[in-house]
Amino acid sequence: MRVVFIGPPGCGKGTQAALLRERLGLACISTGDALRAAIAAGTEAGRKAKPFLDVGKLVSDTIVNDIVAEWLGRPDAPSDFLLDGYPRTLAQAETLDSILHDRGKPLEAVIVFRIDDNVVVKRMLTRHRADDTEETVRTRLRFYHEMERELIGYYKKKRGLVHNIDADAAVEDVYVKVASLLPPKED
Ligand code: AMP
Repeated sequence: MRVVFIGPPGCGKGTQAALLRERLGLACISTGDALRAAIAAGTEAGRKAKPFLDVGKLVSDTIVNDIVAEWLGRPDAPSDFLLDGYPRTLAQAETLDSILHDRGKPLEAVIVFRIDDNVVVKRMLTRHRADDTEETVRTRLRFYHEMERELIGYYKKKRGLVHNIDADAAVEDVYVKVASLLPPKED
């Protein structure tokens, strides 16, 4: 199963990704986590990305596309995976499609986490990550909504790919819903 999560920051995508990894052994990549790791390691990509993460803006498509292309291009790259927080722009979605097309294994599901902005703000401010202030959260939500329509519109053209879930529910309830939407695993 090749799956993408789309949802605002703080919607619980990361929690669900961790559960899928733990319970189903699904390989996951979070571009946010990968960028934070690059910053911590002091790589060139990390140095370029840091100012954007600090203010809650998207980093350049090139940086994140390179991260995902490198991950999917490894000889031992999994054929089943979940991408969390990527793609976030149309250009990223197109790049992902072309990478997957080259591998002959297209995306099978796009799961969209739906949740009210005010619930997100409340959740995020109790999470205490360095880049979480009400201002950065609202900025990230604004950017999210700008790209969401475009991105979902793009995926809706591919019939049957997009599934919406109510993310303002208990973690286990969201998990049951997410798991029910996953296509069968390839061995
Ligand atoms: P996240 O952990 O997914 O909320 O991402 C944290 C931050 O990393 C975002 O606010 C962006 O600055 C950056 N980031 C993560 N994924 C992407 C992406 N696909 N495109 C651009 N920037 C990203």
